Amino acid sequence: MFRLYNTASRKKDEFVAQDPARVTMYCCGPTVYNFAHIGNLRTYIFEDLLARTLRKRYNLVHVMNVTDVGHLVSDADDGEDKMELGAAREGKSAWDIAKFYEQKFWQDYDALHCSRPTIVSRATEHIEPMIALVKTLEEKGYTYRTSDGIYYDTSKFPRYGALVGSAHLAGLQEGARVEMSGEKRNPTDFALWKFSPRDKKRQMEWDSPWGVGFPGWHIECSAMAMKYLGNTLDIHCGGIDHVMIHHTNEIAQSEAATGQKYVNYWVHGEFLILRSGKMSKSGGTFVTLDVLREKGYEPLAYRYLCLGAHYRTQLEFSYESMDSASKSLKNLRTLVRQIAEACARTPQNTSRVQEWQAQFTAAMEDDLNAPKALALTWEAVRSTQLSAAEKWAFLQTAEDILSLDLLQVVSQPEQPELPAEVQDLLAQRAAARQAKDWKKSDELRDAIARAGYLVKDTPHGQETEKK
Ligand code: AMP
Ligand code: ZN
Repeated sequence: MFRLYNTASRKKDEFVAQDPARVTMYCCGPTVYNFAHIGNLRTYIFEDLLARTLRKRYNLVHVMNVTDVGHLVSDADDGEDKMELGAAREGKSAWDIAKFYEQKFWQDYDALHCSRPTIVSRATEHIEPMIALVKTLEEKGYTYRTSDGIYYDTSKFPRYGALVGSAHLAGLQEGARVEMSGEKRNPTDFALWKFSPRDKKRQMEWDSPWGVGFPGWHIECSAMAMKYLGNTLDIHCGGIDHVMIHHTNEIAQSEAATGQKYVNYWVHGEFLILRSGKMSKSGGTFVTLDVLREKGYEPLAYRYLCLGAHYRTQLEFSYESMDSASKSLKNLRTLVRQIAEACARTPQNTSRVQEWQAQFTAAMEDDLNAPKALALTWEAVRSTQLSAAEKWAFLQTAEDILSLDLLQVVSQPEQPELPAEVQDLLAQRAAARQAKDWKKSDELRDAIARAGYLVKDTPHGQETEKK
């Protein structure tokens, strides 16, 4: 039985697909105005675990959007558009900012072995279906006009806020009331279409039946999710911060427009936090994957760290925990290498192995219990009951989900330990190459040569040779 914790029902529910031949999942993607931080990336790792686990049983259609317009500084329609802010900050166009940070995002996403979605949808390429959805809501009487846009009247949708529950909703209304702008009818009302300001030319704007402007962030996800996946999705994911406003508003828009249930299973990942509190871009507590690389950690060590905590628990980030994740991953790979050598990489699929594999799958299908699946993997590789060939068979199943380069590293010859200084230079060079800073990359190559090593760039990354 596949069970998932459903934010809507507040319990673990058995997952029943509408059509097992086409399970539909929508994940809120990045807002591409800055680098993704490792908190954001934790959410994509959890969604990847879900996608990989679902794909074992079903044919999955996984859609992820890229928010390249319309996400305002406050989730509740106030402040500037994050894209235009990014453009002002860097002196580039909003379009260039979007392109640059989206590309950077996919590099991090791939480096963490998150499997690519079936469909990636950029907001700026879907303005038409967004306008069409707002029109439907207008025709059905859910909208009103203010001086700065077309708004959704939440008082017209009786189930508004059901996802968060009534106690939380009261808090949300109170918070919104404090910030409520003069023309809103209800504190929780939100913008569907915003007009371009009269005194300032926006870089990203479109014509619409209501005037030149841009879509609200919430309508983007509703329109793109339903365009690709139909009116009712099996699963919708995101970080826990989206429950209160973004997903609550998506439900209100979509269900008012279609008269059908929007999502059967709402699945939310908890936050990565710092000891000092929230990971924030403004507070200078903004850790990216490149920062981890510069400090000498491989991206998969971060994946390992995330796998060790259940997606519904907060994970406190520290460099001590990164060190220990890094060490554990290396130790696990060493054991796997010994197993590979002992059985000449020939798996033996016995009933005993199948039992272990079934336990592994059962852990993942019990609301994605990755810590248990990882613990089982350690138990299997250390087991005195299983033969090397049986362990090798088990590892094929485990690696399909864990994706920690457990099997690939085996084919590479064991490298003698490099001096710490060289390791550090190599990590810096990898980061420079990621950032396409070829000048810095060449300087670092020379520094590595001065330390006595030649570095070669191969499809698997940098390889070194003693001079
Ligand atoms: P954004 O790019 O800000 O739209 O966020 C992308 C994803 O990261 C969303 O699903 C957010 O809910 C999620 N997210 C934001 N901050 C964190 C955090 N500290 N830990 C985990 N997920 C986060
Ligand atoms: Zn979204």
